[in-house]
Amino acid sequence: MPPLSKTQAQEIEEYDYFVIGGGSGGLASARRASSYGAKVGLVEATPKLGGTCVNVGCVPKSTFDLELARLYTADIADNLRKAAAYGFGKGEEGIAMAKDFNWTELKHKRDAYIHRLNGIYESNLVKDKVDYHEGFGSFVDKNTLQIETLQGEKYTVRAKKFAIAVGGRPTIPSDDEIPGASYGINSDGFFDIEEQPKRVAVVGAGYISVELAGVFNTLGTETHLIIRKDQVLRTFDPMLSEVLVPYMEKTGMNVHKNSNVKKVEKTSSGSLLVHVDALEKPLEVDVLLWAIGRHANTDRLNLDKVGVKSDKKGDILVDDYQVTDTPNIFAIGDVAGKALLTPVAIAAGRRLSNRLFGPEKYKNDKLSYENIPSVVFSHPTIGSVGLSEPEAKEKFGEDNVKIYKTSFRAMSFAMLDEDHKQPTAYKLICTGPEEKVVGLHIIGEGSDEILQGFGVAVKMGATKDDFDSCVAIHPTSAEELVTLR
Ligand code: FAD
Ligand code: NDP
Repeated sequence: MPPLSKTQAQEIEEYDYFVIGGGSGGLASARRASSYGAKVGLVEATPKLGGTCVNVGCVPKSTFDLELARLYTADIADNLRKAAAYGFGKGEEGIAMAKDFNWTELKHKRDAYIHRLNGIYESNLVKDKVDYHEGFGSFVDKNTLQIETLQGEKYTVRAKKFAIAVGGRPTIPSDDEIPGASYGINSDGFFDIEEQPKRVAVVGAGYISVELAGVFNTLGTETHLIIRKDQVLRTFDPMLSEVLVPYMEKTGMNVHKNSNVKKVEKTSSGSLLVHVDALEKPLEVDVLLWAIGRHANTDRLNLDKVGVKSDKKGDILVDDYQVTDTPNIFAIGDVAGKALLTPVAIAAGRRLSNRLFGPEKYKNDKLSYENIPSVVFSHPTIGSVGLSEPEAKEKFGEDNVKIYKTSFRAMSFAMLDEDHKQPTAYKLICTGPEEKVVGLHIIGEGSDEILQGFGVAVKMGATKDDFDSCVAIHPTSAEELVTLR
């Protein structure tokens, strides 16, 4: 079912609810509102429904990082090594198989999969009776939105309430700041790479740089990670970086600490020379990837015309109920600048629609932004919920915080050589005489799957005693979290 034509759109008098942006948050909110009988429309600026997560984020990344059925690509490389160590093939054979990986073939399969997902999102809108508009939305007044279609036609829609769910896009330095910066790509460009590069430099120290540098490194690309300080993931508990960085280095990644890119040049062969202040010679690479953060897509929405305020970064200011400074306009997901995660955008969008259009029991529904579990798909994976140790000490005072921690090698690595035994480290942060668990941070194989259940426990306010009263499951890594002393 294609998007509405201009003629069809002009026949609609007024929507109860109109959502700008067909990504995780917008789609979830629009469908939920419609399920309550509201007249709902949604506009998406690109021909691909699904937003960042589906098109250039979580989903395509996962096919490169771990393949179909929970074993996606870069983890397969790790598992082939493991298989060799456990007697499947003779030693190097598994590793040789990992090197046989065909990037181009997987990229094309992945693109076809994403294309199917785009279609499923479209049919879901039809099934849920949400009018789908294709084009770029910008405000005319607080009840009117102009839509400019991909063919350049313009029309307006009216609505009683609007939700802004336009997400964000990657930030990259300008060529004025760093000459030649634009020779680099961002995470969107990562998904267009047709052939596995032989050498890459990734700049940044957050989720994306750690994950994508990990993919390249595990698949055998010469990988340089350039970070401004001496640790990655500095907003997380420090233990995680202290365990991850040495392991990344041990597995062959070149981590350039306290380093800044000063200039980028293109050679006649097409390679890039990346000049880094801490290095004597420039790095010669095939791809330079900037992963230094994202910013909200708010610049062309005409927010000033409708009194919706944003902060210096462009993130829209909202209250606890996602309401902007203009009471009939709401903002959800990445554009509201808090916890830029797909499930957060979805939960905020659904709860908003529950509150606005749902039954009485939802009249105060809102998303709690406290204790949101989050995973970094590094090698090994990281899981984190609640406060970091420095945050807990700052909040409760040093004497009121008790730390429990452990580090070990998971049993599944017992037969591997030292270089390929992934480290595991767990930390519990407790406070008060009852030792309420206010932070849980884990790095090691399976941390992504382990975290969800412990996230429930932390959200419920579990204490160390509650953890200990749960009998361990043996032999697992997760059992260590209920036997910490
Ligand atoms: P988006 O999904 O970005 O959707 C916004 C939509 O609005 C887009 O489709 C855009 O085209 C459209 N739009 C913009 N302006 C307009 C306009 N004016 N008119 C009409 N349409 C407009 N999160 C996780 O939880 N787990 C992960 O593993 C994970 N991995 C990620 C990996 C990468 C590389 C990236 C970049 C992000 C990742 N994220 C992950 C974050 C996640 O993708 C976002 O938090 C999520 O997509 C936010 O959803 P949203 O609805 O707020 O915005
Ligand atoms: P992040 O905000 O996570 O990290 C970017 C980091 O890059 C900063 O923390 C900073 O670290 C460093 N940086 C910032 N500016 C510069 C600069 N000028 N030069 C060099 N380094 C710089 O952004 P990402 O782009 O990695 O990801 C955006 C968001 O997407 C994430 O916050 C996350 O919410 C979401 N995401 C979630 C994933 C998941 O759930 N697994 C995966 C991918 C993305 P420092 O100050 O230490 O230098």
